[in-house]
Amino acid sequence: MGIEQALMPSPEAWLARERPDEPVFFFCPRRLGEVATRFLDGFPGLVSYAVKANPLPELIDGVWRAGVRVFDVASPAEMALVRAQCPGAVLHYHNPVRSQAEIIAGLEHRCVSWSVDRMRELEKLAALPAGTEIAVRLKLPVAGAAYDFGAKFGAGPADAVALLRRVVEMGLTPSLTFHPGTQCRGAAPWERYIHAAAEVALEAGVTLHRLNVGGGFPSDRGEGHPDLETIFATIARSARDAFETPPALVCEPGRGLCAEALMLALRVKAVEADALFVNDGIYGGLAEWRDLGAMGRVRVIDPSGRLRAGPAQARIVFGPTCDSLDRLPEPMPLPATIAEGDFLICEGMGAYSRALVTGFNGYGARRVVPMSEAF
Ligand SMILES: *Cc1c(COP(=O)(O)O)cnc(C)c1O
Repeated sequence: MGIEQALMPSPEAWLARERPDEPVFFFCPRRLGEVATRFLDGFPGLVSYAVKANPLPELIDGVWRAGVRVFDVASPAEMALVRAQCPGAVLHYHNPVRSQAEIIAGLEHRCVSWSVDRMRELEKLAALPAGTEIAVRLKLPVAGAAYDFGAKFGAGPADAVALLRRVVEMGLTPSLTFHPGTQCRGAAPWERYIHAAAEVALEAGVTLHRLNVGGGFPSDRGEGHPDLETIFATIARSARDAFETPPALVCEPGRGLCAEALMLALRVKAVEADALFVNDGIYGGLAEWRDLGAMGRVRVIDPSGRLRAGPAQARIVFGPTCDSLDRLPEPMPLPATIAEGDFLICEGMGAYSRALVTGFNGYGARRVVPMSEAF
């Protein structure tokens, strides 16, 4: 790997040399470290990493080495993965619905914070050690995200009040958590949620141990680098304004932390006048593109690594499987001269890409090539 890294100044150079027929991810530890530092330095509280966005062991290791010590896990397999990678990690178990076996796994892995959003699930946690943190998950009808995370989990304000009171009765430690929805375009959803959280706590008559403001931090999908610092500042100000004594803050970014860390290279299998066939699609690393639209940060190179420039032409993009659903929702503008054997290099592909690869029809991007620190 050391030699491969020394010979690899850029993805272009590597692709021109290897000409892989399979899709390939490039892992950029330096970019991961930079984004992690931005969160650790800028967020006014504790930063935890939401593992589901990308459970790649090298990425978990990079997040740890950057200084993140807390990991948001949703399943026993994620707990085991993080424990194997970073034995000293602090685990937050923030999947509010759990089987009995999963509760036992959470105890065995010494998870310190557990989210809940309904009374029946809270009662199932009676065996937790006294004082364990329970983060009641609040949901509001909030717009502003690429899609809504409140559609599945979360208690409305009245139910959250009842849950907080019951947490205290059970001898557990009350906190609140929410998720404003993934890829939020601005800070407004956090502002609304933090004010609502303060009202819920006041109504319940409960002093919150912590307030977890979720994930939802945006990555650059082609609209330019997101202004994370403004979001951090809004979160800090909202907490000061909304609470008489603000609780300690926690965030749990997935996408915002890991998206920059990976690029994805696709190869063009065939070109038609109005369509393009590439070697990965919605059952692989492009799963999200069906719902969020295509990544805007894509460049095309020919097999010798030269950038294709010139006017763009929109073509329908089909993935490699034999399923007719395996296509992108909108035609994608790419250089008109694109040809069979070319590569598409997609930036910012670290989140919800490799994690969602199914292997359907024998396809799907799995290979990860580490880039040198220089890139
Ligand atoms: C998915 C998830 C996250 C991360 O969300 P992003 O939008 O990727 O930042 C954080 N917390 C919980 C509970 C989640 O389910």
